[in-house]
Amino acid sequence: MSQMPEQSRPAEEPPDVGELTPPDRTLMGPGPSDVHPRVLRAMSTPLVGHLDPSFIEVMNEVQELLRYTFRTDNQWTIPVSGTGSAAMEAAIGNLVEPGDTALVPTNGYFGGRMASMAERAGGEVVTVDAPWGEPLDPADVADAFDDHQPDVFGFVHAETSTGVRQPDVSELTDIAHAHDAYVVADAVTSLGGVEFRVDEWDLDAAYSGPQKCLSCPPGASPLTLSDRAMDKVLDRETEPRSWYLDLSLLEGYWGEDRAYHHTAPITNVYALREALRLVAEEGIEARWDRHRAIASDLKAGVRELGLEMNAPDAYWLPSLNAVRVPDGVDDATVIDYLLTEYDIEVASGLGDLAGEVWRIGCMGYSARPKNVEYLLAGLAEALAAEGFEG
Ligand SMILES: *Cc1c(COP(=O)(O)O)cnc(C)c1O
Repeated sequence: MSQMPEQSRPAEEPPDVGELTPPDRTLMGPGPSDVHPRVLRAMSTPLVGHLDPSFIEVMNEVQELLRYTFRTDNQWTIPVSGTGSAAMEAAIGNLVEPGDTALVPTNGYFGGRMASMAERAGGEVVTVDAPWGEPLDPADVADAFDDHQPDVFGFVHAETSTGVRQPDVSELTDIAHAHDAYVVADAVTSLGGVEFRVDEWDLDAAYSGPQKCLSCPPGASPLTLSDRAMDKVLDRETEPRSWYLDLSLLEGYWGEDRAYHHTAPITNVYALREALRLVAEEGIEARWDRHRAIASDLKAGVRELGLEMNAPDAYWLPSLNAVRVPDGVDDATVIDYLLTEYDIEVASGLGDLAGEVWRIGCMGYSARPKNVEYLLAGLAEALAAEGFEG
């Protein structure tokens, strides 16, 4: 036998990866938004166990703060471990039982995600239609109820893909409740940014994400269910398809027992607590007013540049401003310019609005006058570089 050749491969070196130094961006896209320094500080505090008495106290405080922010007395109000889509899937995957009919909208990207989730939950999906860039018309929702008698109706209160805010929420819930259905609202880009009232609007379930108007990193996502909705969940004949997001199991941890289900993302819960404390200090209504005021300045500024908003004022969404890309201007070039020259993140349009709009967020800690001025300066320069005269 020949001798083993001498090791010819280079000795295994540990990978040479430098210290993390992310660029200093100003986040004005559809999320995440800039994180408040107090939230970052809360994230660098020591871990405790997820069943430590001190953490149980933190859980209670987060639930209390979430109820305040959602404007609800719902006992069943928790942060779901995961991003906004996890809270979304928890709501839909638990409320939709196999054989249920789920009515969802087609007027934006996230209605489509609702449809996929409802289908995977074993539901039969039917739709109420409106073009991308418009809200649902209550008359169409009423017709869809007459046609399909759905068990669950989901809608997107703040459609991040189109910059449209759904008005008339109480009208929608009245229609659904007259048909004994359950209403699930996507409040991912509403919560803590634009008026959103779970109890007054009689919603059965609502969910959100922390990285939009709450200015917190993604990871623990708000969810609330009424007693009526939770009764449906607890009376299910079949278990939900997800073990991780099974609310009847999560009740053991977030309910009275505080028993292990999975390890809560402690640091994300700390972050959410601090972000919600900031909401409480500012006052929820004052926070809605701030978003509206700052985004009004943004809107006035883009109009002065000769641009148009995609949504009429009647259903404009202050937390996400869809601005029309003018003829002759390439949307991606402008987005690149803002990122490379100004360190500002904004986003392009999605789906039916791809290439047609820019999506400019005005969320949480990012919703500040200096950011709006900075963005408008950058945008003016980027448009001039594209030869746009306004
Ligand atoms: C961002 C967003 C989601 C999804 O949240 P992730 O945190 O990305 O999972 C759902 N709905 C709307 C309206 C959103 O804007």
